[in-house]
Amino acid sequence: MTASLTFFGAAGTVTGAKFLLATGGARVLLECGMFQGLRALRGRNWQAPPVEPKTLGAVLLSHAHIDHSGYVPRLVRDGFTGPIFCSPGTADLIKIMLPDAARLQEEEADFRNRRGATRHAPALPLFTTADAERALRLVEPVAFDRRFSPAPNVDVHFRVSGHILGASIVDVVAEGRRLVYSGDLGRYDVPVMRDPNTVDSADTLLIESTYGDRLHPSGDAAPLIVQAVKRAVDHRAWLLVPAFAIGRTQELLYILRELEEAGRIPPVPVYLDSPMGIEATTIYTRHPGEHDAATARVAAEGKRPFVPSRFHVSPTADDSKRLNGLDGPGVVIAGSGMATGGRILHHLRRRLPDERTTVLFVGYQAAGTRGRLLRDGASRLRIFGEDVPVRATIMTTDALSAHADQRELLRWLGGFARAPAGTYCVHGEPAASAALRDAIERQLGWRCAVAADRQQIEL
Ligand SMILES: [Zn+2]
Repeated sequence: MTASLTFFGAAGTVTGAKFLLATGGARVLLECGMFQGLRALRGRNWQAPPVEPKTLGAVLLSHAHIDHSGYVPRLVRDGFTGPIFCSPGTADLIKIMLPDAARLQEEEADFRNRRGATRHAPALPLFTTADAERALRLVEPVAFDRRFSPAPNVDVHFRVSGHILGASIVDVVAEGRRLVYSGDLGRYDVPVMRDPNTVDSADTLLIESTYGDRLHPSGDAAPLIVQAVKRAVDHRAWLLVPAFAIGRTQELLYILRELEEAGRIPPVPVYLDSPMGIEATTIYTRHPGEHDAATARVAAEGKRPFVPSRFHVSPTADDSKRLNGLDGPGVVIAGSGMATGGRILHHLRRRLPDERTTVLFVGYQAAGTRGRLLRDGASRLRIFGEDVPVRATIMTTDALSAHADQRELLRWLGGFARAPAGTYCVHGEPAASAALRDAIERQLGWRCAVAADRQQIEL
């Protein structure tokens, strides 16, 4: 019996991962991600699922990010009823992320319908909160390094990838052939998360390439964060940080607390204006086994690793609105990380026209997102159908990325004792994936290809 893999999404682009593993006896979907970014990509979320959901025996998720897990409720709505396997950390995180994604869908549809800002009448959500709740009932958490069998002749275990809490490298043996999928690969020697586990062999390897053409700046993000906080303090104004609620937010809180303790920034009020960020921080605290040694030490000293001295949370919409009336200085951390939705939009709409405002981007900004437009120097920005002038100072750091850069990807690949028979770059814009392929061929001497959408390979 042979096993094959077909790429639906995250091939030639970063988001929308769905890889179909087919053996003689079963079909397993590896990742079930939503497309994000450019309108043409987002449109693919609305097409018929590339795989008939009823024919799938199981779904495997590497981690909770929406571009890896966000299509699950739609798959369930369209008829999938099998188990969804993921690590315990991922299971905890998608409990908050999938309903949140559903709420954003519902709110956006409502908003468009109220404003008449839609070409579709009425605008519909991609999936509902009820779809998300039904999907969550199918989740079966499996601890790291524990082997399980999602289908006949398919054995899987999750290894630590270090990207965010729960993030896994997925190690699959199907019909005797070993498929290793890097998931999103974390970094070495960064705050909070552990280094990625080393893997030493595979027949087929899927490697992410989000930053396949880039090197993160050497050194850490601290100097720029210090500069951004000080600018806010000097202007008695606001520092807005659009951040993923999961991972980036906890890393930021950890760094702000460290900087404050070291006397490098004054104790400034920090508002976590994100219900999901608040819950995710609690979940991070609940999984200390996934923290790196330094974070574990902070906790062992009786301190809370993710709590700066003047820390406030804004769980409700009213709490969030109250921030509008407050005088700075202060730091607001809110989602979404690419300013594609969420509470950060209200803060941006209100504060971007004020030249005293600072906006700090700390994560990847996909093509077509408001975050990318701002980072690239847009002087005006469409928010809620309004044209908002941008007078704020925009700062960007890639040093906080949760993704390995080209050097770190090659370092992880260096753990393999021999070349996989086939290596495929996934999760990258075309230039990034091609650059990583070239580096792998040149530096490791492996055969490597950029995965093409709808391409089918034999394992
Ligand atoms: Zn991710």
